Amino acid sequence: MDQKHPPLGGQPSSQPGTPAGAAAALPEHCDFTVFGGTGDLAFRKLLPALFHRDLEGQLPDDFRIIGVSRSDLDTEGYQQLVREALPGHVDPAGHDPATYDAALQRLVGRLHHLVLDAEEPDDWHQLHGLLKDRGRTEAVGGPDEAVRVFYLAVAPALFGPICARLDEIGVVDPTARVVMEKPIGRDLASARAVNDAVGAVFDESQIFRIDHYLGKESVQNLLVTRFANTFLEPLWNSRWVDHVQITVAESLGVGERGGYYDGSGALRDMVQNHLLQLLCLTAMEPPTYVGRETVRDEKLKVLQALKPMGPQDVDRDTVRGQYRQGLVDGQAVAAYSDDLGRAGSSTETFVALKAEVQNWRWAGVPFYLRTGKRMDRRVSEIVVVFKEPPHAMFPGSEGATTANRLHILVQPDEGMRLHLTAKEPGPGGIRLRPVSLDLSYATTFTQRSPDAYERLLMDVVRGNPTHFMRRDEVEAAWSWVEPILERWDELGERPLRYPAGTTGPTAAAMLLERDGRAWQETDQ
Ligand code: NAP
Repeated sequence: MDQKHPPLGGQPSSQPGTPAGAAAALPEHCDFTVFGGTGDLAFRKLLPALFHRDLEGQLPDDFRIIGVSRSDLDTEGYQQLVREALPGHVDPAGHDPATYDAALQRLVGRLHHLVLDAEEPDDWHQLHGLLKDRGRTEAVGGPDEAVRVFYLAVAPALFGPICARLDEIGVVDPTARVVMEKPIGRDLASARAVNDAVGAVFDESQIFRIDHYLGKESVQNLLVTRFANTFLEPLWNSRWVDHVQITVAESLGVGERGGYYDGSGALRDMVQNHLLQLLCLTAMEPPTYVGRETVRDEKLKVLQALKPMGPQDVDRDTVRGQYRQGLVDGQAVAAYSDDLGRAGSSTETFVALKAEVQNWRWAGVPFYLRTGKRMDRRVSEIVVVFKEPPHAMFPGSEGATTANRLHILVQPDEGMRLHLTAKEPGPGGIRLRPVSLDLSYATTFTQRSPDAYERLLMDVVRGNPTHFMRRDEVEAAWSWVEPILERWDELGERPLRYPAGTTGPTAAAMLLERDGRAWQETDQ
C-alpha cells in the first residue's frame, strides 16, 4: 500500500505506542470536521457527545467543529439549528440550568458550517481556507498547528472521494485523522476498495474505524474483569466453559431505514462488526499489556481462528429470519414487508449461528450468536455458561442446580451478573437455590456513565486507536462472513418468518436444543 503520510506521532504503525490505559494528552488546538454535519448521526450522537465532553470541561478552548453538508446554511444558521435541536438529544434535566446553558453556548460558539457537495470538485477551497486560517502565524506542522479530525458521517460511497479531495487541497498532514462509520463495504472486495481508497491518503495509524460497541463501558470492563482479576482467567477455557452466547436484540423494526437495511441485512449490519467484535473480546488471549496494537493483534488472531463455514456448516449452523406482524410491548406492529413498503424481500432481520474458535483455549466450545429486529426485548449481552460441577455432592437435596453463568450486560443496563448456587437458609435438608452476585454500573458508580461516542471521539482527538477496528480485522471478519452470504444466495430461500415481539424463529431455539442447550432468555 502506498502510504502518503507518515504515521501519527512519527511511530511506525506496527509499533505498540502508548498503552491504552495511560490516556495521551489532548491537543490544545483541534479542528473537528464532520462531513454529514446536518445528518442523523451528527445530531443524535456526535454533537451530544462533544457537548458532554465540553460540559465536563474536557474540550480545549481552541476546538472548532466544522459541519459540512450540501444544506444551504451559513454558520449562523447551523448554530441556530444545533442550539434548537441539541436539548432534544441531551436532556437538560439533571443538569444545573446555568451550567447547561453555558456549555450549550460554548459548544455553539465552536460551530462553523460549510456548504460543500462532496461529489463536486468546486467549493473545497472554503474548507482549505478555514483549516489553514486559524488566526495564528505558526508554521504549518509547528507545535501549535491544530490536529485535524475528519469524521465521515456520510454514505460510504463518499469516503474515497472525500479523502482524495482532502489530499488534493493539502490539508492531510501527519497529525490528521479520519474516522469511518460502518458499513465498511458489503463484502470483502468492497471493504478492500474502501480501505484502499482511504489508505491511499491516510496511513493506517491515522484511520479510525468506529464500532461504538467498543466504546461501551461494559465492553471495556470485560477486558478489565478478565485481565485485572485472577479468579476468572484460569476458568476461561474449554475445560471449564461449556459454551458462550452473544445476543444483540432490538425491539424496534427497521423504521425509516428500510431502504438502506434491505440492501444489508442482519449478518452484514450486525454480525460482521458488533457481534464478532464482542466475540473477539470474549475469546482473545491476554495481550502483554493493553496497548494501541496489542489488543487489536489478539482480536485478529481470534478472527483468524474462526472455523471457516462450508456450505454444509452454513445449512446446519445458521438460521435466518424476517419479522412478520406481531405485538411488541402490547402494541400491534407491522411486518418487515410493510415497513419496507414492498413484499418479496429476502433480506434477513434475524440471524442465529453457531461459531467455533479453533485454538487451544476454545477447541470444542460453541459460540452461539444471535441478533434480530422486532424481538421481545432490547438487550445486548454476553453469557459465559460454565460446565456443571463434576460431582453432585448434595444427594437428595431439593431445589435446582444450574450451571454457573456470567452475564455481561452491554445494554440497556450496563453491568455484570455472576450466577451461583447457594443454600437456602433454613433447618432440615439442604435446599439449593440459584442466586446472583450483581454489579450494576448505575448503582455501583455514582458518576454518569458516558455514552460510547464520548469516549471514542476523545480517543480520536488524542490519537489512540486501541478501541477502533484495524483494516486487517475488518477484512478478516468479512472473509469469515462471506461464505455464509454466498451460500444463502446460492440457496435462494426466503428467511423464516417470526412474529414480531418474540425471540425469533423456532429454528434458532433448535440450533441449541440439538446440542442439549437453550438460549438464556432472561438474565435471572
Ligand atoms: P443522514 O441522516 O442521511 O445524513 C447524511 C449527511 O450527509 C447529511 O448531513 C447530508 O446533508 C450529508 N451529505 C449527503 N450527501 C452529501 C454530499 N454529497 N456532500 C456533502 N454532504 C452530504 O445519515 P446518517 O444517519 O447521519 O448516517 C451517516 C453515515 O453514518 C452513514 O454511512 C450511515 O450508514 C452511518 N451510520 C449512521 C448511524 C446512525 O445512527 N445514524 C449509525 C451507524 C452508522 P445534505 O443532504 O444537506 O448534504
